[in-house]
Amino acid sequence: MSENKKNTNSVDAVDANTTEEAARSNFIRTMIDEDLESNKYGGRVVTRFPPEPNGYLHIGHSKSICLNFGLAESYNGVCHLRFDDTNPASEDMEYVESIKRDVKWLGFDWGDKLFFASDYFERLYEFAVELIKKDLAYVDSLNEEEIREYRGTVKEDGKPSPYRTRSLEENLDLFERMKKGEFEDGDHVLRAKIDLSSPNMKMRDPLLYRIRKNDEHYRRGHDWCIYPMYDFAHCLSDAMEGITHSLCTLEFENNRELYDWILANVELEVNPPPEQTEFARLKLSYTVMSKRKLLRLVKENHVSGWDDPRMPTVAGMRRRGYSPEAIRDLAERVGVAKANSVVDFGMLEFSVRNDLNFTAPRVLCVMDPIKVVLENYPEDKVEELEAPYYPEEIPKEGSRMIPLTREVYIERSDFEENPPKGFRRLSPGNEVRLRYGYVIKCDEVIKDDDGNVVELRCSYDPDTLGKAPEGRKVKGAI
Ligand code: ATP
Ligand code: MG
Repeated sequence: MSENKKNTNSVDAVDANTTEEAARSNFIRTMIDEDLESNKYGGRVVTRFPPEPNGYLHIGHSKSICLNFGLAESYNGVCHLRFDDTNPASEDMEYVESIKRDVKWLGFDWGDKLFFASDYFERLYEFAVELIKKDLAYVDSLNEEEIREYRGTVKEDGKPSPYRTRSLEENLDLFERMKKGEFEDGDHVLRAKIDLSSPNMKMRDPLLYRIRKNDEHYRRGHDWCIYPMYDFAHCLSDAMEGITHSLCTLEFENNRELYDWILANVELEVNPPPEQTEFARLKLSYTVMSKRKLLRLVKENHVSGWDDPRMPTVAGMRRRGYSPEAIRDLAERVGVAKANSVVDFGMLEFSVRNDLNFTAPRVLCVMDPIKVVLENYPEDKVEELEAPYYPEEIPKEGSRMIPLTREVYIERSDFEENPPKGFRRLSPGNEVRLRYGYVIKCDEVIKDDDGNVVELRCSYDPDTLGKAPEGRKVKGAI
């Protein structure tokens, strides 16, 4: 899980001075600049963030969110939030709600541009019929394993399914009956008719539709017995919404040829069609980001839920106390690259610390106490000491009062009976400063029968509040 095993001092590891300008320029911006220059999309910049509602958003998604919404913001464009909900098995309204909440919390606004691919099922069906009528799609009745076999390998051409030459009428009839629920899952699929010897395996007659007769879709119920595949639904959803720049992660590089093929072969209202561009996904060291694995952690009760503070989800990080500014800062620092790499978890912690430094009031507490008795401090005296909320270098006001009495508690680890060389905290016969208070000296150590330290008898120097003791050095503050 997400823990920083190396415990690096990431402040050193990160160039804190990265200028905003440098962090912001990237190859996608260069491309958009060129498109604006050539007036390719009539000056429009329309991006989208397309999550599948089958889990909560994680830190990786936040990179895509910052990129898509951030580009729209800085080019005066719009970014759509589109739920890519074409798989009835695993999707749920709880996830839709959580995703909306998290995108908003990160600081982004989709306005009225909220879409669901499942609202396009009717239009997508029409597009599929169009491809069949153009002899660019056919109903195949091989089973999954046979299809894989017939597809060949990178070294070997595929061979045509015996059903590839079905007549147009038969294809239309079968596809309609698939839709009506006359067949069982796996009986037939709809495939694009492209090229069985293409060096790109994605182009060897990819699947466009499959039967999922009995699954209930969380929005469409049992309206549909067939569901479009990602490659078919995604590009057409982009086109129907008038997306200009469709940004996705590098694994989809080989899908781009299919994306373009589908858009080139149906009648669209937009011209030119949207263009897919890939960027490197965010990988963080020691951090699991597969939704499948995160789902297991939740379902098998290894964590208390998707928002367990140990989860790398946006909701978990919110509970952990991270701010949206810190997460956006990480996205900016990581930048947009064309090659995959792993980002050190310390970089996220740097962004968080850097942000909290300016916003989080400092308060201290003792977790594992030892009692300290200040023997020269009057029995019934209570003194209010001022503890500022922020360190000196933070230009923020505010403090709280801490009562000082004859008895106080210090952290057990702040005392050593036999201090190692260089120990700067409390030890017998030595002085240390109580944070925001006086310099104290340890005069006597009291132990129980087992030899555990239970109390320290100390004296305080009343002349050291807010100033250094005269004539001697005190090395530490506790
Ligand atoms: P799955 O494992 O279910 O395919 P996914 O991570 O692709 O999950 P989606 O809901 O499809 O999840 O992702 C929504 C968007 O977020 C996609 O555009 C995807 O490219 C992007 N995304 C997902 N993970 C990362 C990541 N680690 N870095 C950057 N972008 C990401
Ligand atoms: Mg996905």
